[in-house]
Order: sequence, then C-alpha cells, then structure tokens
Amino acid sequence: LTEHNARHVWHPMAHPAEMRANPPTIITGGEGAEIIDIDGKRLLDGVGGLWNVNLGYSCDAVKHAITTQLNELPYYSAFRGTTNGPLIELSVALAEFFGPDGMVRSFFTSGGSDSVETALRLARQFHKINGQPERTKFVSLKKGYHGTHFGGASVNGNQNFRRAYEPLLPGTIHLAAPYAYRNPFNTDDPKLIADAIIRQFADEIAFNGADTIAALIMEPVLGAGGVIVPHESLMPGLRTLCDKNGILLIADEVITAFGRTGAWSGSRLWGVQPDMMCSAKAITNGYFPFGAVMIGSRIADAFEADRTAMGSIGHGYTYSGHPVGAAAALACLTETIKQDLPTNAAARGVELLDGLNDLQARHPIIGDVRGKGLMCALELVANRDDKTPAGKDVVGKVYQGAYDAGVMIRTSGNNIILSPTLIISKADVARILDALDAGLKSAHN
Ligand code: PMP
Repeated sequence: LTEHNARHVWHPMAHPAEMRANPPTIITGGEGAEIIDIDGKRLLDGVGGLWNVNLGYSCDAVKHAITTQLNELPYYSAFRGTTNGPLIELSVALAEFFGPDGMVRSFFTSGGSDSVETALRLARQFHKINGQPERTKFVSLKKGYHGTHFGGASVNGNQNFRRAYEPLLPGTIHLAAPYAYRNPFNTDDPKLIADAIIRQFADEIAFNGADTIAALIMEPVLGAGGVIVPHESLMPGLRTLCDKNGILLIADEVITAFGRTGAWSGSRLWGVQPDMMCSAKAITNGYFPFGAVMIGSRIADAFEADRTAMGSIGHGYTYSGHPVGAAAALACLTETIKQDLPTNAAARGVELLDGLNDLQARHPIIGDVRGKGLMCALELVANRDDKTPAGKDVVGKVYQGAYDAGVMIRTSGNNIILSPTLIISKADVARILDALDAGLKSAHN
C-alpha cells in the first residue's frame, strides 16, 4: 500500500520521495472525537480532520440527513431553473444564524477555495454595478491563507504558496501579519501591532487611491499561518477604514465560522459586520464537500436593484447547492446549535491554552503559545533568546511522541497546530496535554 501510495497518489504539499521515506498513516475509522489507524490504534484527533470536524466522527443526525437525502434525490443542479428543498431551508437557517453578522443571502460552493474566489469576484462586480469599475485591487494580511485558486493565491500572505504560480492578480497589497512573536515593528504588544497595521492600511489607501481598491480580505483569526490571534482592535479598525473609503470587507471564515474560536463566527468575536463571509469546512464537518459565501444586504441590494446582466452572479458550480451537501449542512448547523458547541469550544479552549502555557514553562523548546477557543498553536524554537525556529527533526519527534501517546497533532513548519473537534471533554484536553508533554520530552532527548 505504501509503495502504491507513493507512486500513484499526489499528496498536497508533499514530495513523492518524502512519502516513501516517511509514509503517511492510513486512517481507517473514526468514532466520536477519535480516529483509528490501520493498526487499530485509537487516537484522539487533536486537529479535527483539517480544522473542520467540529461534531466528531459519529454524528448520527448528520449521517441520517445524508442517507435520507441520498435516497430521495442524490443530485440535481441548482442553477437558474431548478432548486431543491434542503438548499432553501439551509439558506433560511444561515440567514437567521448569521443575521447578527449582517448576512442575508448565500451562494453555495464545494469548498473554501471556491468560496474565496466567489467573494473576490463578487467584490469587483459590486463596484462595477456601482459605477466604479476601476476598483479592482485586493488587500490582505501577510500570513493569511485564502485557498488555492488564482484569486485566493494572489491574496495569500505566504510567498511559498504563490511563487510557483506567478504572475498572479496584479495590484494585490499585503499588509503585515498581526504576529506578536515576530514582526517588523519592534514590539510584541498586540495593540501596538494592530495600530501599526491599521496605519499601514491607511497609507496604502492614500498611496494607491481608495478608488482603486475593491476589498480587504482577512481571517478573523489566522489559521494556516500558524494560529495568529490579532488584538481585538485590529478587525474593527480595518472595518472603519473600509467604510470611510468605500472598500468592502471580506471575512474569510473558512476555519472560524460555526464556533471554533468560541464565538459563532470570527467576525462576531471581534464585533464586526463584514460585507461577505466565506465559509466551508465545519459547514458540513467533513461529512460532505460543501461551502457557502454569505452576503450582506449592501451587496445583495445592489445586485437586486441592477436589472442589467451585471446584476446576476456571473459564475456557478455544478455542485452549487448540492442537495446532499445542503442536507448535511442543515443537520450540522442544527446539531451545533443543539449541542451549543461554541460554548464548549470557549471553555475547553481556556483549559487547553492554560495547559499549553504550563508546558511552555517546562519545555524550553516552546517559544510561543497562541490560541483562541479550540484553535491553538505552539511555536517550537531551537533557542528562545534568538527565536531560531526548531528544525524538522525536533518537530517530527514531538509529532511522533504525541502519536505514540495516542493523540494526533499537526505540524506546520515549526508550529504544532491543535484544532480538535468541538465535542471534546475536559478529560480529552488533559489527554492532549499529556501526549504533547510526552512528545516534547522525547524531542529533548
Ligand atoms: N480559507 C481559509 C482561511 C482556509 O483555512 C482554507 C483551507 N484551509 C481555505 C480558504 C481553502 O479551503 P479549501 O481547502 O476547502 O479549498
């Protein structure tokens, strides 16, 4: 199996030689907050699949909704002439659920990259409807991750994800990351860093001209960049500048929507109403590929009022509004509300962060601890004084040590990422911390 895997499967972000030298684990089962590997070893899933499996692996309500819908109607397109019941019900539920974020309508996709691409396209189209066709540029944050499509890759704040695909969209502006541990501002004070980024945005608006900028896109808490939690003033400050300058704010909530940070959405966490919210991942918890862009009334009304060809969305996906995906999403939303998962994420998140800080006091290779709700990271260093990132071998030992102790964690560069399911208990948090402790100890030796 390992050789077949290395020969015939292209894994994201991995070289075939690496897959041979260090074969991936075959996962064969999942139950509750645990997964099971091919040897029958049970692991507490410390990463919730890929930040998405909030409800765990045996949510009967979701499985039931999917199988019922599969039996009734496995697929029909939801383009212009046809629609389906689950899709309509889901749209109503999302509008209600994300009403406090100002969202009124949804456009459905098959995942996060599609959602980002859709939002970027709608932003330009909105300005064209408003007679400002020259508003074409996008602004984003360094260390932000916005998926793989050409628009998303252009606003991506990590050069490694862009280099091989350039030239990308011209005129994309990257503001600094709100990264207190390392930054160009000579401070580790998150508030001062937020102030500096807001000033940077104001400078870029002045330099480029407000009337050239379509939108700012940002993750309320940056995920793939290493779980970077900005100061609470950052997103509101950027929103204010967007408002003053006619720039749209797109919240990329692919990770943060549906409770992961302890709030129902990342935008709500910071008290901001964006113009659009990109979602995917936990919308269906991994039970079906699905995504949605939620759209605020300013944009929805402008499209509604425009009766030319410009007033219609100029693209769609074969699987936009897939009835099985919609049924899965509706069941996930209902369960998330019923189980009040954001409240559990907030409570368990505090315990996890406290525990990680304790680990930092005992393990000098932990340079930084970050987190909000059940979205946490440890940054490993070779040396705390000069913050030299820990090598791959050290990070690999921590991963293997935690695995041997029965917990799946994820490594990303010199970061350890923790994003467990939102159904975990206090005892599960202790299990994650014990396994990490074991992994960190093995890395010292
Ligand atoms: N935006 C963010 C914030 C993400 O974290 C991701 C995926 N990790 C994406 C977009 C892209 O989503 P997908 O992988 O479903 O295309």
